[in-house]
Amino acid sequence: MKDAEDTEKWLDALRSVLPVEAVKVDHETRAAHDHDETEDLHFLPQAVVFPATPEEVAAVIKIAAHFGVPVTPVAAQTGLSGGALPVKGGIALSTQKLNRILDIDVANFQATVEPGVINQVFHEACKEQGMFYPPDPSSWGTSTLGGNVAYNAGGPKAVKYGVTSAYVLNLEVVLPNGEIVWTGANVLKNSTGYNLTQLFVGSEGTLGVVTKIVVRLLPYPRHSYTLLAPFESAERACAVVSKIFMAGIVPSGLEFMERDALDWTMRYVDGVSIPTGPNIAAHLLLEVDGTDEETVLREAEKLAELVEAEGATEVLFAQSASERDALWKLRRRVGEAVKKHSIYKEEDTVVPRAALPQLLAAVKRIGAEYGFKSVCYGHAGDGNLHVNIVKGDLTDEAWNGPLLKEGIRALFAEVRTLGGTISGEHGIGYVQQEYLDLAFSNAALEAQRAIKRALDPKNILNPGKMGMDKAYE
Ligand SMILES: Cc1cc2nc3c(=O)[nH]c(=O)nc-3n(C[C@H](O)[C@H](O)[C@H](O)COP(=O)(O)OP(=O)(O)OC[C@H]3O[C@@H](n4cnc5c(N)ncnc54)[C@H](O)[C@@H]3O)c2cc1C
Repeated sequence: MKDAEDTEKWLDALRSVLPVEAVKVDHETRAAHDHDETEDLHFLPQAVVFPATPEEVAAVIKIAAHFGVPVTPVAAQTGLSGGALPVKGGIALSTQKLNRILDIDVANFQATVEPGVINQVFHEACKEQGMFYPPDPSSWGTSTLGGNVAYNAGGPKAVKYGVTSAYVLNLEVVLPNGEIVWTGANVLKNSTGYNLTQLFVGSEGTLGVVTKIVVRLLPYPRHSYTLLAPFESAERACAVVSKIFMAGIVPSGLEFMERDALDWTMRYVDGVSIPTGPNIAAHLLLEVDGTDEETVLREAEKLAELVEAEGATEVLFAQSASERDALWKLRRRVGEAVKKHSIYKEEDTVVPRAALPQLLAAVKRIGAEYGFKSVCYGHAGDGNLHVNIVKGDLTDEAWNGPLLKEGIRALFAEVRTLGGTISGEHGIGYVQQEYLDLAFSNAALEAQRAIKRALDPKNILNPGKMGMDKAYE
């Protein structure tokens, strides 16, 4: 009874600072915010709020802090580690209404946006003005810039242009005490004080709610060539990756797909089909880009020669924009296709790129040892291999049992031995926190927890994530 009374009190408080339609408690809205793209997990929030200004976000956070109610920032819910899951109930804070591109500053090659802007919408708006925002997660058609910042998202172009953090200059953030602060300045270099901006990038909504993002932009690279290179040996495809850089080529895309990933995606995506011989085990999808067409073409030809010399069978050159788009559509939709095929757990392993062949071999060896099947694909140029462990015909007991967890732990231990870490771009969120001890020493984990405690003494913001509940034990 006490709980219900308390809930009514904080709901009344929320209704006093937000428009009526911005506080929802109906089951449909709550259920729409109880999941992201992580496995088949669901956690129902008690209320969903839709603030439209930083001041409204601040008012929500102050009420939550006063009543001790958990707040989970929720954007497009495309996350793959469960960061947006309201695992402790409470308030789901949607960024849906914070969705304006506030300024594209052509003279300074910068832009200021609200966090709910969809990545591809922003990309196109910049392109119209000859400007380029490179971070392009495969989910760019739906994921938001706020979600991208909170996870430090990558994408196919990261191999040449870097991940989200490389573009964020300054952030407006609502802290867990409801204060609104700017973390830096709108400048290209900044050695003034602690780098708060980069502390918030990748913090998964556990330290503050981002309400404005200032990013730097580049001139749009007008020309690109896309190639698809089939290999009879998946490990050989992985081995080519570092050789491409050793030959002096920095591709603007270098993606790896195992045969099953491509086959399942072709079945799932209408109207895109690529002839693949029976012996093909994997493909590399490669792209080069630039401003001078001749130079880009020469680089593409050099790339094709190199991959053929290293074992690719017939290299397919995309002949038109529509062929290029079709190839990228296939790659971008692999995740969805795997999910359609079976429930899966996605491990976001990353190693120094020369270690990719050893990583792939280890995935298959450990899978055989611990009884799981996997399909692998990912941003090979970054050494980032998404290992999709498919449930297939595993029983629920086996899927949720200790052996699979041990297998994942063994995989992450191998990743560490190879010099890598447990997430390249999908974050720790809810599902990877039990493996954090493999990534950091106790002292390094305690340093992170000390930051969390200092900023969020009541553990209001996104509790139950990134192993941060341990900061309060
Ligand atoms: C098909 C598919 C392909 C994908 N491809 C890629 C890829 O290539 N590269 C990649 O990096 N990821 C990829 N992802 C994962 C996912 O799309 C990204 O992590 C994306 O950045 C999540 O954005 P979102 O808007 O969906 O955020 P959500 O999933 O809603 O939230 C993500 C996290 O951000 C926090 N958050 C959201 N907004 C804010 C805010 N304003 N302030 C503070 N915290 C906030 C949430 O609490 C949560 O912890 C893919 C996912 C899918 C389903």
